[in-house]
Amino acid sequence: MAINLNDLNPLYDRHGRVHNYLRIAVTDRCNLRCRYCMPEKVDFVKRTDLLSFEEMLRAISIFREMGIQKLRFTGGEPFMRRDFDHFLTEVAEKFPDLEMHLTTNGTLMKNKVEFLKKTGISSVNLSLDTLKKQRFLEMTRRDSFEQVLGAVEDILDAGIRLKINTVLMKGFNEDELIDLVEWTREKDLSVRFIEEMPFNGGDHVHRAPVSYDQILDEIKKHYSRLEPLENETHSTSYNYKIDGYKGSFGVIPAWSRTICSSCNRIRLTPQGKIKNCLYDEGVFDLKALMSHGADDNELKWSIEQAILSKKKNGFETEQARYASIGGSYESMAKIGG
Ligand code: SAM
Ligand code: SF4
Repeated sequence: MAINLNDLNPLYDRHGRVHNYLRIAVTDRCNLRCRYCMPEKVDFVKRTDLLSFEEMLRAISIFREMGIQKLRFTGGEPFMRRDFDHFLTEVAEKFPDLEMHLTTNGTLMKNKVEFLKKTGISSVNLSLDTLKKQRFLEMTRRDSFEQVLGAVEDILDAGIRLKINTVLMKGFNEDELIDLVEWTREKDLSVRFIEEMPFNGGDHVHRAPVSYDQILDEIKKHYSRLEPLENETHSTSYNYKIDGYKGSFGVIPAWSRTICSSCNRIRLTPQGKIKNCLYDEGVFDLKALMSHGADDNELKWSIEQAILSKKKNGFETEQARYASIGGSYESMAKIGG
């Protein structure tokens, strides 16, 4: 049945926010071990417990009928999931009216960029926290710096919109802030500095991170004039450009959470749980419902109820989580950051 996405009833929560953006973590497996994301030793989800591609396609179809317009595939590292390429092609063919985006660490992208371009992908977010090879090894515990830089060049050459996600970790890379802004002088990409969140799967005790204000203050010390860019609706980053530079930069207050009032995101974890917020525990198990034979209407009802239970912001959600399970935080790879 042909659906005009603009005719659908928007998926509202109780706080008046429309939800039109679904983020799917296709796996929790990863070939890197970024310190802010996971420890060296990780218990990955059993492959048989992952949401299957078939289930993901069904979920996308249902969400699309509920007003979702934008998809992001993330993880873990999406290219670690076998047949991810094939799945992406299928999504592009079945749902040509949905915007597709990808978040990747860029290490497994050799010869993939042309393929991505053919799928019609709208943008790639690529994680890179440093421009120094040795530091990359320290932060990710793996020696894949050259591959990531290669992916940056390939993506730019292919003309795909590129954002670089940089988590600033105290004591590791905050001294590279200006070098990374300078990178945008000649490169048409957007570097987005992200406040470190506690989702490191127990790697270390999370302390107050390098904050949005500290990041911006530091940058302002070096540049007399920052040109604020108009934010896309629902953008998580506040974006700026320096006059004459090809690229731009942004800051994401992921931990200060000043962006919750315009949140339009729903998350699907590798195991098929729906999450309203990074900080919640998973509001319901979509995979279990599907396995028990729920029909599409039952799934839609459960999704609506889940969205209606969404709390006002990440602080309220974290408080509820703390009351229920205390202060432990899973790896971001198990949520899909
Ligand atoms: N493996 C892919 C990658 O690294 O881009 C996709 C998954 S990764 C979990 C998605 C994003 O979450 C990355 O940009 C990463 O930098 C970010 N991330 C992971 N752990 C984080 C943390 N504790 N705080 C803030 N951002 C984090
Ligand atoms: Fe892997 Fe991405 Fe997590 Fe780094 S941030 S360990 S690349 S999932």
